[in-house]
Amino acid sequence: MNKTVLLYEGKAKKLYKTEDEAVVWVEYCDQATALNGARKEEIAGKGALNNQITSLIFEKLNAEGLETHFIEKLSKTEQLNKKVSIIPLEVVLRNVVAGSFAKRFGLEEGIVLQEPIVEFYYKDDALDDPFINDEHVRFLNIATYAEIEFLKRETRKINEILKKIWAEIGLTLVDFKLEFGRLADGRIILADEISPDTSRLWSADGKHMDKDVFRRNIGDLIETYTEVLTLLEKTK
Ligand code: UDP
Repeated sequence: MNKTVLLYEGKAKKLYKTEDEAVVWVEYCDQATALNGARKEEIAGKGALNNQITSLIFEKLNAEGLETHFIEKLSKTEQLNKKVSIIPLEVVLRNVVAGSFAKRFGLEEGIVLQEPIVEFYYKDDALDDPFINDEHVRFLNIATYAEIEFLKRETRKINEILKKIWAEIGLTLVDFKLEFGRLADGRIILADEISPDTSRLWSADGKHMDKDVFRRNIGDLIETYTEVLTLLEKTK
C-alpha cells in the first residue's frame, strides 16, 4: 500500500490517503504543543516515540477484542488506520485529581476519585476546546444520547484495560483523553492516539512520565518517553 495525497495536517500528525478508500496513512511528527497550541516546539524523536507507544497500546486494545482504527505500524513514525470521521469531542477520563480538574475544583493533585469521571470537551481550537455537557453535545448535534452513553461506557471499559497495561510497567493512569470516529457505516470506534502526550502517568516514586514534563518544564521529554517505550516493549 502507498500513501497518496495529504488529507489533513494536525498539530502532531499528517494524514494521507491510500489507494484504499477505507484506509489512511498516518505520519507522526516531532512537534510538541502546550496551552492549546500557543506554545510550540520541535522535539526531535518525539513523533517516533509516540507512534511506537500508541501502536503498542492499540495492538493490546485490539487483542482484547476492542474495535479500534488501528491496523498496523509501518515504521517508527508511520501507521495505517481505518478511515473514520472524527467526532469533535475530547473524551477525558479521570481516575485521580490532576491538571484542569484540580484547578476547576480547587483541589490538590493526587486525590484518588471514588469513581472514575468522564468529561467531554468540544474540539475547537478557536474556542479553546471548551468543557461541555451531554446536553451541549446534543445541542451541537455531535452525537445522539444513545451514542453519548456508548462513548461513556466504552471509555470506562478502555480505562480498565489501560490501567492494567500501565500498571504492568509500574505506572498509575491518572487521566487520559480519547477521540472516537465514525466508520463509513456510521459505527463509532476508538481512534486517534494513546500516549504520554494524551495520558497522565505517574510512577510509584512520584515522577511524571508524560507530557507534563514539557508543559511544566520539569524534565526531559525524550528521556521520559523513551523510558516508557522501553518498559512497554518488554510487555509485548
Ligand atoms: N489532554 C489531551 N489533549 C488536550 C487536553 C488534554 O490529550 O488537548 C489530556 C491530558 O494529557 C490529560 C487529560 O487529557 O491526560 C486531562 O487534561 P486536563 O483537562 O487536565 O488538561 P491540562 O491540565 O492538560 O491542560
